[in-house]
Amino acid sequence: MYLCVSVANSGFCGVSGEMVYPIVKLGDPVLEREAETVTEFGTPELEKFLADMFESMYAAKGVGLAAPQIGFGRKIAVIDVSNNERPEDKIVIINPKILKVEGRQEGEEGCLSIPGFREQVRRGKRVTIRAQDAKGEWFEKTGEDLLARAFLHETDHLYGKLYFTHISALKRDLMKRKIKKLQRAGDWK
Ligand code: ZN
Repeated sequence: MYLCVSVANSGFCGVSGEMVYPIVKLGDPVLEREAETVTEFGTPELEKFLADMFESMYAAKGVGLAAPQIGFGRKIAVIDVSNNERPEDKIVIINPKILKVEGRQEGEEGCLSIPGFREQVRRGKRVTIRAQDAKGEWFEKTGEDLLARAFLHETDHLYGKLYFTHISALKRDLMKRKIKKLQRAGDWK
């Protein structure tokens, strides 16, 4: 049983004893800079951090979460397109790179760091990534549809890129203006 204590961030205890971190929102610079490459693997700290990331993602009802979204500028993301229904769908990607993008899909996309907004975003339909797992082993994985979208969205996060860079400048400006209004009103924390 872990104690839910965090020095880097405030959070609360999840049902299974993992740490549920609050999600960092647009406006925090950690979201818009490239995260650092992970060089240490197989440590209890990393295992615990990954468990906390999954717990934080499920608590926020997301299908993907990148470490910068909980305030850690490291190239780590977790994905589960089954929403914790199928254990085999839990994927950890560390230091990922997009190898191949094929086809095209249109669909709505949102981001836990930009709550309340969704936009149509054109993405590849079939995406192959190369990444390291928790032990540091390199692997390649191909995903389709939602998983392909998650690979692209989360890898973008680790390079400081948010999904609205893939929509028109007009829509993006409109979105940013609405968010500024929320920030001024104190409704964006
Ligand atoms: Zn996101």
